[in-house]
Amino acid sequence: MSAPDEKKQTDFIRTIIAQDLARNLNDGRVVTRFPPEPNGTLHIGHAKSICLNFGVASQYPSGRCHLRFDDTNPEKEEIAYIQSIKEDVRWLGFDWGDHLYFASDYFQRLYELAEVLIKKGKAYVCSLSADEMRDYRGTLTEPGRQSPGRSREVSENLTLFQAMRAGQFADGTHTLRAKISMVSPNINMRDPTLYRIRRVHHHQTGDQWCIYPTYDYTHCISDALEGITHSLCTLEFEDHRPLYDWILDQLQEELACHPQQIEFSRLELEFTVMSKRMLTTLVTGNHVCGWDDPRLPTIAGLRRRGYSPQSIRNFCRLIGITKAPNHVEMALLENCLREDLEVNAPRAMAVLNPLRIILDNLPEDYLEEIVVANHSQNEALGTRTLVLTRELFIEREDFEETPPKGFKRLIPDGEVRLRHAYVIRCQGVLRNPKTQAIESLRCTVDTETMNKAPEGRKVKGVIHWVSAQRHCKAEIRLYDRLFNVPQPADNKAGGTFLDHLNPESLQILEDRPVEESLAAAQLGQHFQFERLGYFSPDIHDSTPGKPVFNRSVSLRDSWAKVEKKI
Ligand code: ATP
Ligand code: MG
Repeated sequence: MSAPDEKKQTDFIRTIIAQDLARNLNDGRVVTRFPPEPNGTLHIGHAKSICLNFGVASQYPSGRCHLRFDDTNPEKEEIAYIQSIKEDVRWLGFDWGDHLYFASDYFQRLYELAEVLIKKGKAYVCSLSADEMRDYRGTLTEPGRQSPGRSREVSENLTLFQAMRAGQFADGTHTLRAKISMVSPNINMRDPTLYRIRRVHHHQTGDQWCIYPTYDYTHCISDALEGITHSLCTLEFEDHRPLYDWILDQLQEELACHPQQIEFSRLELEFTVMSKRMLTTLVTGNHVCGWDDPRLPTIAGLRRRGYSPQSIRNFCRLIGITKAPNHVEMALLENCLREDLEVNAPRAMAVLNPLRIILDNLPEDYLEEIVVANHSQNEALGTRTLVLTRELFIEREDFEETPPKGFKRLIPDGEVRLRHAYVIRCQGVLRNPKTQAIESLRCTVDTETMNKAPEGRKVKGVIHWVSAQRHCKAEIRLYDRLFNVPQPADNKAGGTFLDHLNPESLQILEDRPVEESLAAAQLGQHFQFERLGYFSPDIHDSTPGKPVFNRSVSLRDSWAKVEKKI
């Protein structure tokens, strides 16, 4: 069990746990669990829960955190999700050691404990249909009514439950319910269902079972069987806590342990959606390209986009753990990535919107190799060689014929410095005779200005460039918010979240010149393309010699309108 960089972090849950330890509760053990349902891939909200559960456990020598798949809904679950969840947790930097579990491992034990509840008069077989059950349940303002099955004798309940298991009844004809109270103000306590008949194949247990336990019944018992001390979950389970405790109280003699459920608020991130249902709609409706589309907030999507595990862990630490609503701006997540890559990503040059310039005072076959540091402050990142030739590409936006006030880049008869190289002067503009569009610039280079200021002139601007004669061509993918509104899931005005999709969330630029060294970019590497942002090779589509780069994040928060354009 390990969790990197668990600094002296504190929040109300860690405080409770520290107090429990000080009282020697649970014999000094701290055991947590991350309990995903394998019915979708993990997202940044899950990362919050993962960092909390694994993080808390790693703070204590006796601490451990289990990875448990709460697999009680076989029709929605898939083995592929189990694999992807394991991969994502590991990628985030956490390790469950030998403690990988499945709630389905406990199906037999759960069944036996249900019989115990029946024998104690705490559970009964109900024969209402789903519609009738809903009708009997009552509402928030009206109490429920008792099912006719509620008055069944223990022996009849046992016989019926055994017959349910033996496959003698059709799906949906009977359920096992807890006998609590139909008048409880908490609807979760109105004789909740514990077992349903469902003839579905299960990815772990095959066709062994035709009855399946419900999530609420399974979750608390699984926690207890694993000796979990603190069962940390999101606030929507707060109203389920009385049921969690009720079930464990009834089974006190059978289960040695009664974990403590503590709730915290879910992470909600602006300009995206996090519900599995909505994510599934986006993927199956081809609104995005798969679960790892770089625009999705899934862990796989963030990884493909170029997020580092460190940046996601830092983000989770920054947002903290409370019970207050946790709506977070996307800019915070992006900033965590910038901070990480600022110090760790080697620099490189690429031109996204190329304008050719010709350095007239250099010979046609001019070729100068310039060795430059990959990072001005981080020597460990080494050096690379740039090639300067007579013809270069610069960004179209770095030249203005009629410059706005304060424009410090290239203008007619003006000078600018080429990054890592010389000062150049624009001597003229070549246009397309038909359209009058600028096709290239005629410039001269002052070869006395490498690493030094030109004599008697001030040159303020520095621009990036790539040789037009010696470069590699790359596909560049630029991403914007997937949605146009901060809370796409809120559809107070009607419609669906799909109405708010941003049609310009992906822009593909083909065959853009990037410096030659980038032809060898490896998967998992991150680069700062100077002045353009942080980029990393696409996991699926990038190949040596034909790189495809995803922009992970721009250099500044473009949405803060600092500089809307690249
Ligand atoms: P479902 O609707 O399928 O239950 P879920 O997002 O709750 O979706 P789970 O697989 O049940 O998915 O989640 C596993 C754990 O992650 C749970 O303990 C849950 O509380 C936590 N979790 C899920 N979403 C968030 C979120 N946005 N912020 C923090 N924790 C979350
Ligand atoms: Mg859930």
